[in-house]
Amino acid sequence: MGSCGMSPQPREVLYVPSDVWTDVLCLVRRDHPQLVRAWFRTLVPASITGGVLEVHTSNTAQSRYLQHHCGRAFAQAAQAVTGQLLTVRFETNGAPSETDPETAVLDDYDDGLVLNADYHFDHFVTGPCNRLAHAAATAVANSPGSAYNPLFLHGPVGLGKTHLMQAICHRVRAEHPGARCSYITCELFVNLFIESVERGALRHFRHRFRDVDVLVIDDIQFLAKRERSQEEFFHTFNMLHQFHRQIVMSADCPPAEIASLQERLTSRFNSGLVACVEKPCLETRIAIVRKKAALRCIEIPDDVAVLIAERVDSNIRELDGALIKVDAYSQVAAAPITRSLAQQALANGTQRPVGIPAIIEAVARKLEVKVSDLQGRKRSKAITLPRHICMFLARELTSHSLEQIGGYLGGRDHTTVLHASRAVRDQLQTDAELSNLLDDIRAGIQNAG
Ligand code: ADP
Ligand code: MG
Repeated sequence: MGSCGMSPQPREVLYVPSDVWTDVLCLVRRDHPQLVRAWFRTLVPASITGGVLEVHTSNTAQSRYLQHHCGRAFAQAAQAVTGQLLTVRFETNGAPSETDPETAVLDDYDDGLVLNADYHFDHFVTGPCNRLAHAAATAVANSPGSAYNPLFLHGPVGLGKTHLMQAICHRVRAEHPGARCSYITCELFVNLFIESVERGALRHFRHRFRDVDVLVIDDIQFLAKRERSQEEFFHTFNMLHQFHRQIVMSADCPPAEIASLQERLTSRFNSGLVACVEKPCLETRIAIVRKKAALRCIEIPDDVAVLIAERVDSNIRELDGALIKVDAYSQVAAAPITRSLAQQALANGTQRPVGIPAIIEAVARKLEVKVSDLQGRKRSKAITLPRHICMFLARELTSHSLEQIGGYLGGRDHTTVLHASRAVRDQLQTDAELSNLLDDIRAGIQNAG
């Protein structure tokens, strides 16, 4: 002890073994596939100190994405893998890099509204369905206020209008530093308007929307039947237009079809460029699946990209959802993405949830061992592999923790469960017989339920 008698305890610093980190990434991938990005492979697990796992990123944009969206996912995965109560902190390591388009999230925020970090032009696929809208959006982003003003995009839901509009904001932000660019949904515009009328704060509201260089307002059909909001927007529009400020709007239909929209607004909305986005054709959908797969770091064979694109033919959000589903299925099955796996994954929407006892019974039935042995302490070779298979399948098919799974299987601790399921996963890479056996057991579980 030092002379003051209370020197602080040195905190233990642990380095993170690479297989632990690989497992953390696998779990995040399995449980939150929608969060995974290709650049996760560049993350560096630095240390575990005082219950905090510190992860180094290569730039501030990555840190910000991880902090905003992934904190809980990483903490849960780290806890499951290490069995320790950990939190995760993301730190930028070295100077921020703003040249990598995939991570050039720049500022996520625009006047308090979050821009989606993935909605860049680089991540947008063009085809006959959206070529005009895309060309107009890039022209507007490159020279706001002088290309097409206003720009009005319309089309059914899920076809990329919001993506294009936010891509404009990202580009304006990157290429015209100092330009004030505001992205807002029309619903929020209307709500803020009502609130500021009630609070007597209209001046502040007007300053916020009339004193910008680019106003991007999404889902303008929300103005339908809202007389006072239409009036307010009319004046906002005129003010911006008069000073050659850029206005970009989107709606689910052309201006003339928005219900009870004042004629003077309809004619203003039609006065610039009105571009429609249509349903994408098969080739475009295939290209979108590939683009999303690259963004999410999913390796996908050509025939699977085609399969997914054939299955979902209208809403692109659903196309992305189908890709995530296939990826998640391949993660839990520890099997590469193939056409037959994708078929199973996409056909599997209606499967019942599975409990650990059902898994143990199915394994016992198929491998002709006793349930009581699987749940007992026996360590003979004949019982070890079936027990490991139970652990592997419990991790694949249920959301129970490692501790809970161990509890069902003779009170084994979480590290035993982790190592056992890892061993089965590794063996599956090369052992086709085991793979077939597991397929039979899975089928047995579903049929028995
Ligand atoms: P909308 O605003 O028209 O309802 P969104 O812009 O929200 O549609 O798009 C829905 C999803 O589809 C988003 O994930 C978006 O990135 C994706 N998406 C739509 N069109 C494209 C495209 N052409 N290329 C890549 N992704 C697209
Ligand atoms: Mg939208």
